[in-house]
Amino acid sequence: MSSVLVVMETVSNGSALHRMSLEALAAGRKLAAELGCACEAVVLGNNTSSLAATVAGKGVTAWSVEHAQLENYTADAWCAALQQLIEEAKPQFVLFAHTYQARDYAAKLATRFGEVLIGDVTHIRVDAGTPVFTRQWMQGKLNAEYRHPAGTCFVSVQAGSFPAGDDASAAAGDVKSFTPMLDSAAIRTIPGKPFREAVQTVDLSSAPLIVSVGRGIGEQENLKLVEELAAALGAELAASRPICDAGWLPMERQVGSSGQTVAPRLYLAVGISGAIQHLVGMKAADTVIAINKDPDAPIFDVADVAVVGDLFEIVPALTKAILAQKAS
Ligand SMILES: Cc1cc2nc3c(=O)[nH]c(=O)nc-3n(C[C@H](O)[C@H](O)[C@H](O)COP(=O)(O)OP(=O)(O)OC[C@H]3O[C@@H](n4cnc5c(N)ncnc54)[C@H](O)[C@@H]3O)c2cc1C
Repeated sequence: MSSVLVVMETVSNGSALHRMSLEALAAGRKLAAELGCACEAVVLGNNTSSLAATVAGKGVTAWSVEHAQLENYTADAWCAALQQLIEEAKPQFVLFAHTYQARDYAAKLATRFGEVLIGDVTHIRVDAGTPVFTRQWMQGKLNAEYRHPAGTCFVSVQAGSFPAGDDASAAAGDVKSFTPMLDSAAIRTIPGKPFREAVQTVDLSSAPLIVSVGRGIGEQENLKLVEELAAALGAELAASRPICDAGWLPMERQVGSSGQTVAPRLYLAVGISGAIQHLVGMKAADTVIAINKDPDAPIFDVADVAVVGDLFEIVPALTKAILAQKAS
């Protein structure tokens, strides 16, 4: 019988589950429910029984895959261990959260089964018993649908696309142990310091008003335009990733899949294209106003108010109008 296997990722030296894995688990459970098959999950590491029990508590059978060579993540060890587990458990679908780690090894694992990875999936529907996976092309301007004909299907799911949530009525599942055979000579990488995601010293998640700036601002010195707008509105200033990567604003002001997730009353996006990695961080905003000179920018798909035009004309005029309104 077919089943869905969700690969859970851990953080903080294997002591906690990655938040995006809980979303992948939600996606896996939903897919399994729609296909009428079982959902299982796997936690890899050197001491995984307690996290596996936590996962089983969410109503799925959880595999605890332990080995000294899994103490730290390496693509070689993860691929070898998961290949052996998949051969044992024989799932039809293997789901990952689309994290940096999964991007590193999931496609390589898929090729061991002669398959490809359907990466960065934002939507899954079941059409006459066949799952249809949606992923975006061309910075969100096109949606492509994928069906997998036969064999093991490997899929990674985008952050924010499948809300994590527990089913309170689900009975806890079993924990099964699996010890892979891993040869240290076959593990070619020496793990370095893990990538550090944005440090959260500014809490944008509770800000009611956010003005967010993207690469359309052009130069660092132009940021004063949006700073003045944010000040006039009494809003927090946020940014897309390129602005923070360039060091123009601190990392904690980044919104998106590798930054903060926000849900303000108003999100005013200035010169932001609306890549999926940005949208997942702000699409819960009550009202989105977007200013962009490209009428086809994907940000307009989630905008309540679309302002097509040059930000260098619109933003100063808007700031002036807000200040005039306040003064009157
Ligand atoms: C693993 C991974 C994680 C990522 N995480 C994040 C994340 O957390 N957050 C994030 O934001 N991105 C993230 N990204 C990057 C993301 O894919 C996009 O590259 C990024 O969001 C684009 O930023 P942008 O919209 O500012 O720039 P661009 O895509 O370059 O868009 C600039 C926009 O400005 C408009 N514009 C230009 N000039 C003007 C003008 N004068 N007036 C009005 N409009 C103008 C253009 O039409 C364009 O739409 C991630 C990418 C990867 C691969």
